[in-house]
Amino acid sequence: MKNVIHIIIIIVSCLVAGILGGKLNTTQRELAPSKEAISGMPLGGFQKFISDMEWMLFVNYLGSLNTVDESNVDEVSRRLERLMSHDPNLGKIYQEGALMISIADPEKTVEILTKACNNPHLKSNSQIPFYAGFVMVQHMKPPKYKEAIPFFKMAVDRSGGGEGFNNYYASYYYRAKAKVWSDGKFDDRHALLHVLYDSWLGDTRDENYVGGGTMGGDSVDLKDRLFSAIRNVKNESEDYKPTVDGNKLADAVVQRVFSDSHICHACTAAYGPGVEYCSGCGTKLKVYGVCQFCQKAVLPGAKFCTTTGQKFPEEPKK
Ligand SMILES: [Zn+2]
Ligand SMILES: [Zn+2]
Repeated sequence: MKNVIHIIIIIVSCLVAGILGGKLNTTQRELAPSKEAISGMPLGGFQKFISDMEWMLFVNYLGSLNTVDESNVDEVSRRLERLMSHDPNLGKIYQEGALMISIADPEKTVEILTKACNNPHLKSNSQIPFYAGFVMVQHMKPPKYKEAIPFFKMAVDRSGGGEGFNNYYASYYYRAKAKVWSDGKFDDRHALLHVLYDSWLGDTRDENYVGGGTMGGDSVDLKDRLFSAIRNVKNESEDYKPTVDGNKLADAVVQRVFSDSHICHACTAAYGPGVEYCSGCGTKLKVYGVCQFCQKAVLPGAKFCTTTGQKFPEEPKK
């Protein structure tokens, strides 16, 4: 019974499409008579209409399935590919359609999404490469971290370096890199810190440095990521115990990246001018901003001592 209804819908759709398409074509000719000279084929609106109709039929078909699994994934893929052959520029084929088969057939999904990544009409779409990478690390067994990296990178680049999605894509990018670098030898937190630090070193060393990922210079984003990565490496939680190597790396990063930020190297708590011991963990700190006359705390750049009123000759002694 269902099949009969589907066939009726298809026939009616084709008829309606034909009538509307013909009308559209006539209207088009009226608006732009030169179009006929370019091609006798119906253009623009008509094909868009057909592909929208096909998309609706596809969605309707999906609705008739309880789930996409081994028993029907080939049929779903076949229909998807037909949709693509008619309108390869329709973004939702990939963003919604391809993901329907991502669990049942991740290889096919990636194949479809890769094609879409190379389609110049979709070159500003950042979700498509992200999904390709996502399916690789989430649904493939074993996960293909290495292959996913360029897709996550593409997603970051296409999203234009803005906040939000870009941040999300970048998280996946760095995590995939960390998995590849670690190769199971380091815990995830240590590996992520290593990769971020490497990226930071690469960015500050040379724009063309190929060892690390260049994600837009010494960015605030990268520093933020490094800071929370240090915290994660240093702080114990239910399923994590800090390691000696991890701590060593974190200390090195604090020294190098946050040397001017006045952050306790032991626990990453921030501290102010003149402070000698960390308020978070009691560690002895590298003191800064102390008056050269009375040794009391002074803000960097102050012209007078706030305790005695004496004028500083130049910059206060740090
Ligand atoms: Zn501390
Ligand atoms: Zn003073």
